[in-house]
Amino acid sequence: MRIFLLSLISIFLTFVASAQTIERCYELSAPFYNPQLSEELEQYTAEWIKNKPLTSRSKITIPVVVHIVWNKEEDNISDEQVHSQIAALNRDFRLENEDLSIVSSFFENIIGNVGFEFCLATSDPAGNPTTGITRTETRFTNVGAEASSNIYYTDEGGKDAWDTERYLNIWVAETGMALGHASRPGENIAEEDGVVVHTKCFGTIGTVQPPYNLGRTTTHEIGHYFNLLHLNGSSSSCEDDDMVLDTPNQMTNYLGCPDINTFSCGTQDLISNYMNWVDDACMAMFTQGQVDRMHAALNGARSGLLENTACLPTSTSQSMESKVSIFPNPARDFVYVKNTSDQVQESRYQIFTTKGQKIKEGIFHNNNPLNRISLPFPSGVYLIEYTVDNEKTVKVLLLF
Ligand SMILES: [Zn+2]
Repeated sequence: MRIFLLSLISIFLTFVASAQTIERCYELSAPFYNPQLSEELEQYTAEWIKNKPLTSRSKITIPVVVHIVWNKEEDNISDEQVHSQIAALNRDFRLENEDLSIVSSFFENIIGNVGFEFCLATSDPAGNPTTGITRTETRFTNVGAEASSNIYYTDEGGKDAWDTERYLNIWVAETGMALGHASRPGENIAEEDGVVVHTKCFGTIGTVQPPYNLGRTTTHEIGHYFNLLHLNGSSSSCEDDDMVLDTPNQMTNYLGCPDINTFSCGTQDLISNYMNWVDDACMAMFTQGQVDRMHAALNGARSGLLENTACLPTSTSQSMESKVSIFPNPARDFVYVKNTSDQVQESRYQIFTTKGQKIKEGIFHNNNPLNRISLPFPSGVYLIEYTVDNEKTVKVLLLF
């Protein structure tokens, strides 16, 4: 099966190389590692959509770990760039994007809100505090290319996944000719389950380049991760579709930014859907049918994500070795930050929501042992990142 997959990939690679263009995504609908899981999930999905079970969950939180695997210094992207991607995911999956006007009015009534909230994990699989970001230097260029599995293994120049049942693993690296690839449930073995995205289209700031600078390569790939296919299915045929009822069949997958009044297969095509290959600025929606399919995947094959509390503070008394202490925590209105080292000349802080949005930052230039930070924010969970002498500390901050 693996050889078959590799030969398919090499045919595809030849095609890509001859096209001399960057490809959007490598989802090949290749043979699944676990076809039984895939079949069971399809049955479950059909049942789910038929019955539309009501869930009692008021909030669905997806714990994410981002593995940055870099060969060139520039690909060791900043924490801020990672946070910008998490914010972009929350924008797109919670229908908070402000560009819905690009959607043809013909499809307005099927626009869906997925309702997933993504957050960087605040505890790792061993329960230790974390920023939800790992960094690994590799000797390989294009370590994330689809034809290689190196990126998934620390001893092969990549980074081992965190428990793929409980975390959405996103590897960010050079990915060769494609911008990204992902595994649908059952498509890859557990160690290789997740999403791989090119450094140059991850997030909305830093190293990203137009036309892939709105974070939507990752939105698209996570669509696959939750069992969505391209709108044209897996081939250029009107007979083949994406197993979603409300998306019209289309002949091919679109690149660039085609006219929204494009027709194939006898109906208008849904150009502005996230599961096309169009430019970031030309996609803006999932359909309600796609939303249902993703919810079925989350409650079926991906239900381990729901059991993970990695986005919640495990304990506020966990101490990290650092040059600062922050108190009180839980807090209301303000906290004090105390330097425990007597050599500090400058210290900086940034405060983030769990959705990755930076809401405050500041610098203390003096060597004041006790600094006060006001916190005029709603009650909830926040992250505070404190940098002293280039040493970063991240702590979970509870406001009540
Ligand atoms: Zn794709």
